[in-house]
Amino acid sequence: MLGPIVILGVFVADTAYRAARQPRLGETVMGDSFALGPGGKGSNQAVAAAKAGGKVHFLSRLARDAFGDLALRTWSEAGVTPEVAFSEQGYTGAAYIFLEAGTGNNAIIVSPGVAGDISEEDIDARADLIRRASVFVTQLEQPLPAAIRGLQLAKEAGVVTILNPAPAAPLPDGMLALCDWVTPNESEAEALTGLLVHDPITAEAAGRMLILMGAGGAVVTLGAQGAVLVPGDGAALHLPAIHVGPVVETTGAGDAFNGGFAVALSEGRSPADAVRFGIATAGISVTRPGTAPAMPMRAEIEALLS
Ligand code: ADP
Repeated sequence: MLGPIVILGVFVADTAYRAARQPRLGETVMGDSFALGPGGKGSNQAVAAAKAGGKVHFLSRLARDAFGDLALRTWSEAGVTPEVAFSEQGYTGAAYIFLEAGTGNNAIIVSPGVAGDISEEDIDARADLIRRASVFVTQLEQPLPAAIRGLQLAKEAGVVTILNPAPAAPLPDGMLALCDWVTPNESEAEALTGLLVHDPITAEAAGRMLILMGAGGAVVTLGAQGAVLVPGDGAALHLPAIHVGPVVETTGAGDAFNGGFAVALSEGRSPADAVRFGIATAGISVTRPGTAPAMPMRAEIEALLS
């Protein structure tokens, strides 16, 4: 029996307001639409992985409020098992997303709320679960000490570790050595390596640099150009994106990729097959609106790859 996929990360409620323009300080403008939906990179990745067929446990922190309920409902619908610590004070994270009508430009404020209090103790409380996982995944939205603790516990137990280094942030010395795989997009790869990344050649160079910095292997995602797999021990491979239909929304493409990649690795597939599975998962997700609701089901991914 394969161990579960354990994902550590943040949930925020995305509240998206569209208006002709942003209000100036002191001003009120009327908007023309509003949408509330589940967000947060870790939560999106957990939903993607569960819908893609993984047995997923999600470690996070919520408050007992309306957005906390939205998180629990989202995970329940996707089949994600919550491993949540509750804070009695504070609020569940929320993001204000301003969308400019006509241009699609956005401006965002993220208030992580109690997810900003995810601690090493929260991780230690789930140490046994992490140790019997097949794959452990985290990102950089929650405090770094918690991410590092989770990676350490997993690595020591021989669990495959994936760090999606998003949003871009400097990493402390030694952190990449805890990662079997690091999965930056172009701008995150640039921030981590200082190299310009815009095509498969430059992505391979950044991947090699990340391995020199300690990572076991790297997958640099390149949006519509697909992804470059740089294993620690062999030739790099550029895997093109899969174009399924008109692109509707690319928010969460990286989360879809990471969720799919984790599922395939947890099933013992080769790194190249796992990247293909992630690319198929993301390729379907970008043809649909929203983030968590856009994540495809296992059968859809398999149909695309067959
Ligand atoms: P992020 O969302 O983190 O910025 P990317 O934009 O690199 O990540 O996208 C992650 C993956 O999603 C890519 O490797 C690719 O497989 C897929 N993807 C992204 N944009 C598109 C697109 N326009 N068409 C098809 N697949 C896409």
